Amino acid sequence: MKPRIHYTRPSITPLEVAYATDAAANGWGDQCYAYIGRFEEAFKTHLGARFAIATSSCTGALHMGMAALGIGDGDEVIMADTNWIASAAPIVHLGAKPVFVDILPDTWCMDPAAVEKAITPRTKAILAVHLYGNLCDMDALQAIADKHSLPLIEDAAEAIGSVYHGRRAGSMGSFGAFSFHGTKTLTTGEGGMFVTSDEALYEKVLTLSNHGRARTQPMQFWPDMVGFKYKMSNIQAAIGVGQVERLGELIDRKRAIFDYYVQRFAGHPEIAINAERPNTHLGAWMPTVVYAASTGITRERLQAEFKDENVDARVFFWPLSSLPFFSPAPENKNAWDIPGRSINLPSFHDITEPELARVADVVLGMLEK
Ligand SMILES: *Cc1c(COP(=O)(O)O)cnc(C)c1O
Repeated sequence: MKPRIHYTRPSITPLEVAYATDAAANGWGDQCYAYIGRFEEAFKTHLGARFAIATSSCTGALHMGMAALGIGDGDEVIMADTNWIASAAPIVHLGAKPVFVDILPDTWCMDPAAVEKAITPRTKAILAVHLYGNLCDMDALQAIADKHSLPLIEDAAEAIGSVYHGRRAGSMGSFGAFSFHGTKTLTTGEGGMFVTSDEALYEKVLTLSNHGRARTQPMQFWPDMVGFKYKMSNIQAAIGVGQVERLGELIDRKRAIFDYYVQRFAGHPEIAINAERPNTHLGAWMPTVVYAASTGITRERLQAEFKDENVDARVFFWPLSSLPFFSPAPENKNAWDIPGRSINLPSFHDITEPELARVADVVLGMLEK
């Protein structure tokens, strides 16, 4: 058996280890938030947003942000059918309903025309998820949001390094949410970030994130409301400070891996890869290929072939509306069709050139079977 190729693996250097060690040894008492503050500061500077709150996960950041926007019982939030459950779960927890719309065939992100059609009097927000680091059509979505006076939220968990018309993913909506899970481009093991440039929304989330205790509240242990506890620890933030100092390098490497695949698959129109529309730049978190329907290649054959070659590959997200606890929406044709002939490719920081070649050979080899 050939040696195994993993699909993701973090890049942790002596820099992150030194910061984490320092946080573990000295990050207590009046230093107990020091790395958290540094991490938030560096991250919002990278993004070009005014405010940032480090969280224990992206799911938590989304949950608090949506709660602060007043999303609750009976409300509807429009999102793409193609997504990881983490983007939908906070909507359900708030008593609201995720409304799943179809995706575009090239970016695999929500189709603005479908969003427009899905708006009802109960619609409370639009949730744009930049799938696999591909970019949503933010201008079209913002125009719809403005027309109906709705907040446009960005789940940018997969989109660090992606830039839309000069603006970084996660910095454009009412608020943005990021994940630093171990599989993401920037990792703290588990972790996330809430970002916004809306000061009032920031203050609300800050209060919510502190179990409802407003920072202006003079009484000790006096919550003004029932809040949340989705905080990041100082030790995780120390790893984050190291990662954010290396962010340029981490994104550049993702991009180089993506460019390698693009170049290997060029000249094979039956293989589509993450689409980069004009005036956008992809951070390329997860290179993904979609085979043309005419090839007859299926997810199951792809999984079997990658397994034989000892290469990890993940299946494209199932449509959320196909899960047993949601209502099926097979009319979302692209969301129900594309996953059946797609696969996510390995793209970790330290993957070697021969390993990349092995992966690309498996992808191209499928065309001859
Ligand atoms: C990873 C991911 C999440 C969840 O992030 P957590 O930090 O695990 O909560 C949410 N949305 C998207 C698009 C993701 O890729």
